[in-house]
Amino acid sequence: MIDPQPERRWTATYAAWADELPEWVSERVFAAAVDNPVAWTSHRVELARRYVVFDTANLQDSLDLSGARIIRDRVAEIDAPSRSTGHGIDLPSVRLASGPTLPAGRVIDARGIARSPALAEQTAYGVIVDRARWTGEDTLFMDWRPDNGAKPEEPPSFLYTIPVSADSVLLEETCLAGRPALDPAVLRERLEHRLRSRGIDLTGTEQVERVRFPVQGGRPHDRRFGAAGALTHPATGYSVATALRTADTVAAGDTIWPASARAVHALRAAGLRALLALPPHEIPAFFDAFFTLSPHSQRAYLSGRDDLPGTITAMTALFAALPWRIRRTLVGAVALPQPARR
Ligand SMILES: Cc1cc2nc3c(=O)[nH]c(=O)nc-3n(C[C@H](O)[C@H](O)[C@H](O)COP(=O)(O)OP(=O)(O)OC[C@H]3O[C@@H](n4cnc5c(N)ncnc54)[C@H](O)[C@@H]3O)c2cc1C
Repeated sequence: MIDPQPERRWTATYAAWADELPEWVSERVFAAAVDNPVAWTSHRVELARRYVVFDTANLQDSLDLSGARIIRDRVAEIDAPSRSTGHGIDLPSVRLASGPTLPAGRVIDARGIARSPALAEQTAYGVIVDRARWTGEDTLFMDWRPDNGAKPEEPPSFLYTIPVSADSVLLEETCLAGRPALDPAVLRERLEHRLRSRGIDLTGTEQVERVRFPVQGGRPHDRRFGAAGALTHPATGYSVATALRTADTVAAGDTIWPASARAVHALRAAGLRALLALPPHEIPAFFDAFFTLSPHSQRAYLSGRDDLPGTITAMTALFAALPWRIRRTLVGAVALPQPARR
């Protein structure tokens, strides 16, 4: 395992749908679990799906690296096995920034995705406050209510709230996906505006969480993993649960990319293009329609990475639930080409 900072502690707050996680993930690594998170579009919806928030430090510590040789370095180049096999064993290899080249039976590229203006990103700005200060619901998966001061013609953002410990909650203003995504400074202003309108004046001493990462740009491939391997859901930004769930299969050398998963990946990419093409004021209406889908279809769309029939059913039902003016935009958007991959 090669990483420039193998001992770096993770600091982001990660959450996931409980049913996406493999059995070996222990409940001990959860900071909180909520059975019915809430979404707000034009009305309040309770989602019948358990949502868990990780205790990031415990999650990291639980991922056992014993048996792995850890090399503190940067990968400069990954070379495929040469085609002129000749004699001897022809292996892929990794050239390290410090000079040496290491041969390996298999090389898995998990280097993440470099930021690029060509790639849509998710951004968010959040603060952690005492639970006592927050009288709203402690788990809001998405709250699109228009009390954040944004004008209707501006790209929208939503409030995301989760408990992060027994006595604190994370309140985060999130731009789901944008090319470019909303600047964190704008999200900060909107968060402050929204919280003020709900009775909380921030003091400026709260712990801050900043989010910015590409939601596209990975490539489905058996030699790639994590964001680099297209495990990020392009329309939601989630990837952590998928990485945990698929890790054993990848380690065993089996594929996580059957034809069904590749087809779902293409449909999800079309879903992102649709989201990016929607006029800002229509985004809440899009999610209004999304949350009318059956729990089964919502789950298929959000998590069924190799469930092709489920994804098609969900997307068809979503399309049918949308007003005509939005459908027309979506039809145009999904025909657009995809951005270049790394
Ligand atoms: C604040 C925040 C909150 C988030 N919340 C959630 C959430 O709730 N749920 C969720 O599913 N996702 C969430 N995400 C997204 C999630 O963090 C990413 O999708 C995920 O980290 C991708 O993991 P990865 O390991 O593939 O890539 P990265 O996290 O980008 O890691 C890449 C690794 O590769 C190493 N590396 C890079 N280049 C080289 C090189 N040349 N040689 C060797 N090593 C290299 C880096 O040091 C790093 O360790 C959040 C992101 C942020 C920033």
